[in-house]
Amino acid sequence: MTGRGIEMETLRMTCNCEGSEHTTSRRAAMGGAIGMGLLAGLPLAAMAQSTTQVRKDIPSPDQAIDMLMAGNKRFIDGDMLPHDHITTREKLDAGQQPIAAVIRCADSRSAPEVIFDQGIGDLFVCAVAGNVPTDELIASIEYSVAVLKTPLIVVMGHSKCGAVDESLKNFNDIEALPGRLPSLISQILPAAIQAGGKPGDEALVNAIRYNVQNGMRRMPTVSSIISGAVESGSVKIVGGVYDMPSGRFEMV
Ligand SMILES: [Zn+2]
Repeated sequence: MTGRGIEMETLRMTCNCEGSEHTTSRRAAMGGAIGMGLLAGLPLAAMAQSTTQVRKDIPSPDQAIDMLMAGNKRFIDGDMLPHDHITTREKLDAGQQPIAAVIRCADSRSAPEVIFDQGIGDLFVCAVAGNVPTDELIASIEYSVAVLKTPLIVVMGHSKCGAVDESLKNFNDIEALPGRLPSLISQILPAAIQAGGKPGDEALVNAIRYNVQNGMRRMPTVSSIISGAVESGSVKIVGGVYDMPSGRFEMV
């Protein structure tokens, strides 16, 4: 299969929508989740009533990784797919089934749909400065995993991250930061400690990487929904750093 052929196959995997499959798939997905005993009686179950699968087949975690990395290669090469947002948005009125949940920094330059060359509905994106999995973001990821059956969780750091840089620059006095920043930056502090606790280009690169790894470790530690999905093999957690000049997303 040619490179373009692989891309077109990928496109079919990301946009396959057949109405009769939706309800069946959703019921099967919900039955599995409830069978796990994770959702019964929880607001998540109620939220699921409004969702409907729009993808014929849920990719495996490894397939989802391949789809993202293939998209990142297209982005690096400037060979992105022609996304038909108008047609897609009409199909997505039936519901969503993203291939990956992404915890990203709020930085305007770190846009996963563009960096992974994905369309509307393909990624379940949660953003916060410093891409730390706060409790609120983990709850969002739990919804994506348990209800939408998303097979992949991505923690996405990026080069020159200002939030991580602040954790290094204010290492000795996080509480002196203005506003609500201390509560956020303190969650990045473990990575700053691992990187040596002093500002600098090398420390920043290392702290960004450590911060991604810490986020990957934290999620299954505090969430039984996520750890259960990982242990069952239905979900993988990966992380990486997006390098702005090259466009490359490199796994850590
Ligand atoms: Zn950032």
